[in-house]
Amino acid sequence: MTDAIRPLIAGNWKMNGLKAAAAEFDAMLNGAAEVAGKADLLVCPPATLIAAFADKAHGKKVAVGAQDCHPKASGAHTGDIAAEMLADAGATAIIVGHSERRADHGESDALIRQKAEAVWRAGAVAIVCIGETQAQRDAGQTLDIVRGQLNGSLPDGSTAANLVVAYEPVWAIGTGLTPTSEDVEQIHGFIRELLTSRFKADGVAMRILYGGSVKPSNAAELMAVKNVNGALVGGASLKAADFLAIAKGCP
Ligand code: PEP
Repeated sequence: MTDAIRPLIAGNWKMNGLKAAAAEFDAMLNGAAEVAGKADLLVCPPATLIAAFADKAHGKKVAVGAQDCHPKASGAHTGDIAAEMLADAGATAIIVGHSERRADHGESDALIRQKAEAVWRAGAVAIVCIGETQAQRDAGQTLDIVRGQLNGSLPDGSTAANLVVAYEPVWAIGTGLTPTSEDVEQIHGFIRELLTSRFKADGVAMRILYGGSVKPSNAAELMAVKNVNGALVGGASLKAADFLAIAKGCP
């Protein structure tokens, strides 16, 4: 973990959670003070729950975010949600370019860059996801994919305050598989070099999260890796006990 960078543990609830999930979120709010010394906490529930969760989280140590947005602020885009609407509901950060959006909705780096700019326009922090597939990894293309996605998805003007990078190897998401600490260190180090070369001091200070099957049992090892500044957590973020235990694993 880079000393000066405060870790962020961000939960991506994906398409999970009805109104009754508020009880689990309450448990996160109740336990948050205990881990506040370790990391910032962010929960990104489905859009339907953002406003209710943000109301509950007011003045507490958990921020509320969103999982995606449309690049435009308004207009004829049935079913889409603008970053401004998400911010209005209480989201202070928005994930863009998650591999499930890239795969399920054919999202390109160029679109993701526009979405990141939309997040800023709404006054929120963009969490931009990158990561290689199993086939790309097997073909030895990991670093090329990471470089291409970073160059293509991160807008000019990215700063340590307005943007977070989440490195999520696609083959590790929801599979229980994780890269070795050595692999994570190599790839996060490579990302840090690219960020520093493009964004200078902001690149040095920008958070780089690791994502992919983070759970309480592997969090401490992964969070201790150099240039890992927190985690983007899917499945394990649905349970307060697991989510808080992951934050406790931060050095
Ligand atoms: C994710 O989808 O961002 C993710 C990291 O999922 P999981 O933790 O379930 O692998």
